[in-house]
Amino acid sequence: MSDSNLTPMMRQYHDIKSQYTDAMLFFRMGDFYELFGDDAVTASKVLSIALTSRDKGEKRTPMAGIPHHALDGYLHKLVAAGHKAVICDQLEDPRQAKGIVKRGVTRVITPSTVLNDQAIDPSRHNYLAALCAEGDEVAIVLWDLSTASVKVIASSCDRYRDDLARYPVAECIAAEEFFSPIAELTESPAEIPGHFDHFPPAQSRALALARHYLSTTQFRTIEPTEIERITDQPLLLMDHSTCRNLELLTNMNGGNDHTLLWVLDRTQTAMGGRLLRDWIRHPLFDRHSIERRLEAVELLVGNYALTGTLRDILKGICDLERTINRIALEQHRPRDLVNLRQSLHQVMQLREHGEFLQEAPLLSELFASLADFQELIDYLAHAISDEPSATIKGGQVIRNGFDETLDRLRGARGNARDQILHMEADEKSQTGIPSLKIRYNKVFGYYIEVPKTHQHRVPQHYIRKQTLVNAERFVTEPIKELESLILEAEEQLQPHEEMLYSQVCSYALQWMELIVSSARAVAQVDVLSCFAQISVGSHYNRPHIDDDTRLEFSELRHPVIECIQSEPFIANDLQLDTKQQQLMIITGPNMAGKSTYMRQSALAVIMAQMGCFVPATKAHIGLCDRIFTRVGASDNLAEGKSTFMVEMSETAFILQHATRHSLIVIDEVGRGTSTFDGISIAWSVAEHLSGQGPIGARTLFATHFHELTDLEQEVEGVFNCHILISEKQGQLHFLRKVAPGCAPKSYGIEVARLAQLPQSVIERAYEILSNLEAREYSAEGRSAVVHSQDPPYLFGPLDDPAVERLREIDPDCCTPRQALELLYELKQLG
Ligand code: ADP
Repeated sequence: MSDSNLTPMMRQYHDIKSQYTDAMLFFRMGDFYELFGDDAVTASKVLSIALTSRDKGEKRTPMAGIPHHALDGYLHKLVAAGHKAVICDQLEDPRQAKGIVKRGVTRVITPSTVLNDQAIDPSRHNYLAALCAEGDEVAIVLWDLSTASVKVIASSCDRYRDDLARYPVAECIAAEEFFSPIAELTESPAEIPGHFDHFPPAQSRALALARHYLSTTQFRTIEPTEIERITDQPLLLMDHSTCRNLELLTNMNGGNDHTLLWVLDRTQTAMGGRLLRDWIRHPLFDRHSIERRLEAVELLVGNYALTGTLRDILKGICDLERTINRIALEQHRPRDLVNLRQSLHQVMQLREHGEFLQEAPLLSELFASLADFQELIDYLAHAISDEPSATIKGGQVIRNGFDETLDRLRGARGNARDQILHMEADEKSQTGIPSLKIRYNKVFGYYIEVPKTHQHRVPQHYIRKQTLVNAERFVTEPIKELESLILEAEEQLQPHEEMLYSQVCSYALQWMELIVSSARAVAQVDVLSCFAQISVGSHYNRPHIDDDTRLEFSELRHPVIECIQSEPFIANDLQLDTKQQQLMIITGPNMAGKSTYMRQSALAVIMAQMGCFVPATKAHIGLCDRIFTRVGASDNLAEGKSTFMVEMSETAFILQHATRHSLIVIDEVGRGTSTFDGISIAWSVAEHLSGQGPIGARTLFATHFHELTDLEQEVEGVFNCHILISEKQGQLHFLRKVAPGCAPKSYGIEVARLAQLPQSVIERAYEILSNLEAREYSAEGRSAVVHSQDPPYLFGPLDDPAVERLREIDPDCCTPRQALELLYELKQLG
């Protein structure tokens, strides 16, 4: 449709829309935000709102609308569905507009820039990630607009995906050298003046890129308050699949239940909840920092009553980081200021208890960094009512007594309203109409309503305004006068109250840095006291941390399984080091508890290195630099990789990256291929990981290949353990106890029976098994024992000349004639 056919307003719409083709445009019209065209169609589906149309015939266009006050809720849905929204507001009062109302874009909302607390999960950060590369170096900037948390990571081409996966990233932008998912808003970073010259070039560009993107969406310059460099922090690293395998933050089905976070999260504040997530994902690898946390937890455990008091105080602290950032970005509501005041009051209370917790240096530092907010609290208490109206337009935000002019205007309006009330009583008695009422509506303002039955009593000076079925409405001169007094007061009142409100906000923002740094200290106190509470409640104990490579647990439990099953949990010991007990081969039937045992060991290391107590009576942790796991099938299957391929790439990753300080958990390897291939691979992987190989890391290796238990004899540091089973009257009992040596047999068919495979199938399986076993032991020169130096019969006789000859051949390079000749040659060899 040509532009000239459009109404001026639709022309205005199209002008604005053309600048934001990748976003849904919410166009303010009166009390509604309207969407048109494809936006309307998409919105009607995503938001379940009615699709109508505007105009008719050629001008007809799909349209959908939402009431303006409901905007935030809808935005939440839209952003969660991955859309970007642009809000176009009326920039002048429509009543005063000459011609078409001036409109302009006031907000751009994307998954990482949405600030509304309904839209973002309080328990996690909502990062924008910006990526820039210089050669092999990749800089990652993580910027959470809602909490002002900014991190810079120096990463590399092969590591950056893993680094990104460690953080809750809502949206990612990348410089030209990457593919750029959101190119429109990110102009060439070269044009962005870099304030970040003290960072290496890639990092400085990534910071500028993120700042530019955020500033563009917020229509203001966004500057980072504090930039955290992740580069040099010694951390216990875990790749994404290890986190998933160990169910740290999400379970295998992607849910939140039954994870380590689920067990540990007794935090009382949103900041604490976010920090706990971060600590679980990033345990430390530095004895000093871990000890500082453990010391703090121990002191809190020792002063448990006080810890309880602290936790009660913490409960009353709102999401200070997000609240103050909403105020800074002018996306807050008056209620936020009340929450801010109440929360800062709690912070002051917390501060008072600090003096009893000086013995742990970390705690004393944290308490010392809680600022004195009394002045701000008093100011806010004086300025803002306890129950302010939902928005400043509601007119009940600034408390009476804060400002003389405001009080006077409110007084004038109140007096006039009172006078109108008095007037109703006077008019009733003067006219003798008992049912006479003075009412108000937006169209007529104040009016007198008289039922039809009393029309004959209506005085001359009443001016008729409207006739209804049962009543007539009138105004009088005195009513009009009073009304204009009220209107006059209101007209001045609103802008004046808005002005005062913005003064109050500016004053609060002067405290922003102190609020943010105190909020971060609150988060740490929250997590540490959460550790103390769970340690007492669940009988965890302080681990001994060391720089050696010993790992020893007495009576270790699985922190999650012990909480979720009714069957009592059986604790087990563990001893690993990089010498005599370096690689544990664990055997036992399915369901015996192998993987539980291995996972609980990894989880305890993670907990200890986070600074938390562990579910064991005693623990010695020689620090781990990385934890690797290779467990079962994974959801990469959906990406088209076969189980075996996934297994092998995960194993390759471990062999490439593990060091002597790592902990490796392998729950079966080599299952996805033929038995012989599988055993061979498992065997040589175990050799490679052993002290004789190049890695020598502490390793837990569960397997169904009983052949691997022979490694104990062959390779120093490899030792066998199995999980005890008892068999009474043909019934299997899982004892859940780990004991030295290897499992006597595999009980696979018995477990199948437990799983209720039909009796006939079970019987037939036993028959086949006994045939197979008979064949295996009778075969000449075939022993079930695998010798590492002399890889066994399993691979077929190696010296068969025909096979040797076949190995030399590359069929792709043979002519048909050569192939035929070869066939004759082989025939002769055979
Ligand atoms: P496997 O890896 O040997 O097949 P799992 O470790 O998956 O066996 O254990 C199977 C189930 O047995 C677990 O889900 C848990 O319910 C239970 N279980 C495992 N270990 C213990 C234990 N030490 N105490 C009590 N129950 C256990």
